[in-house]
Amino acid sequence: MKKMNERRSKYLSIIVPVYNEEESIPYLHERLEHILSQQSFTYEIIYIDDGSSDSTFKQLNQLVEHDEHVRIVRFRRNFGQTAAMAAGVAYSQGEILVFMDGDLQNDPIDIPRLIEKIEEGYDVVSGWRKDRQDAQWSRKFPSQLANQLISQVTGVHLHDYGCTLKAYRHEVFRHIHLYGEMHRFIPAYAALAGARITELAVTHHARQFGKSKYGISRVVRVLLDLTTLKFLGSFGKKPLYAFGIPGLTSLGLGISTGLYALGRTVLPSQQHRQRSPLFPTALLFTSFGLLSIFSGLIAELLTRTYHETQDKPIYVVKQIHPDQGKTMPLIEQQTHNQEQTKTQKNGQKEIASSH
Ligand code: UDP
Ligand code: MG
Repeated sequence: MKKMNERRSKYLSIIVPVYNEEESIPYLHERLEHILSQQSFTYEIIYIDDGSSDSTFKQLNQLVEHDEHVRIVRFRRNFGQTAAMAAGVAYSQGEILVFMDGDLQNDPIDIPRLIEKIEEGYDVVSGWRKDRQDAQWSRKFPSQLANQLISQVTGVHLHDYGCTLKAYRHEVFRHIHLYGEMHRFIPAYAALAGARITELAVTHHARQFGKSKYGISRVVRVLLDLTTLKFLGSFGKKPLYAFGIPGLTSLGLGISTGLYALGRTVLPSQQHRQRSPLFPTALLFTSFGLLSIFSGLIAELLTRTYHETQDKPIYVVKQIHPDQGKTMPLIEQQTHNQEQTKTQKNGQKEIASSH
């Protein structure tokens, strides 16, 4: 492991979203402290109180008084686990970020192993609850199906997207903005930006205190989030292809049905002539086709606005060599100055720009 003085002042940030977890917090913190104090790197533990209505915040405050490693971000109301994790990223200073649940289901004992994998060169290390201690039919079974589906759709094959215990290089989050309940898909978004990903079997315990904050309705939200992910991955930079292909097909069908209907109407002799019943069908196809193409064009405008107003390039650069400091887009240079770009031993700079 590299020496600390080669690194930013904080090496590791543990990010723990908590929502009404008053009983678990003292035990979790004790366990975290026990494991982390044996490590050679510096660290911080960021608890995000996601609008708890029990004594969670009071418990966290007591931790701050006794432990300089602790920081609390307290939300005004319950914004959800994804928002809590996004806040954790925003307020963290570490080079490596480790997320974990605050209900004692993840075990801090796995943290050093996750970090070892990052040190090996991976950008994302995903925890896999191989021996998961949750109900079989209501939790494990739908989760297995979801993991297979997500792996197929995204092409990123992980056994356990739903496990919060994962480690990331901080820079991965320069390309990822979290919405909805997308925390489960962070590895897939990271893969879209070219991150190196691996997984590691981790310990899992049954919930001791309180109850799960999720019901079966999360299945629907996961499916919708997966649709967004697939759409952004395949068409995020070229939405006209998504709308234009069905649009053109429908327009083609509409025009040919229309011509056929016209032929059937005007070609027969005067006394047999009657309006073809296919005209409404032709009109339906044509209007759907035109609407779809126009939606695609509007989506193209939005994509350009997104990329151009924020100077967001459509690619991700890993490295520029030799780096003369001029080749980076301006916005990236600013971000880099703020985040104290890590200069590698040989003087090369590792950079990545948003997709
Ligand atoms: N959590 C949160 N906000 C929410 C829901 C959950 O911060 O709106 C936290 C929760 O306190 C826990 C973690 O996210 O630390 C995982 O939640 P939970 O244990 O209920 O999920 P499960 O393990 O049942 O999938
Ligand atoms: Mg849990």
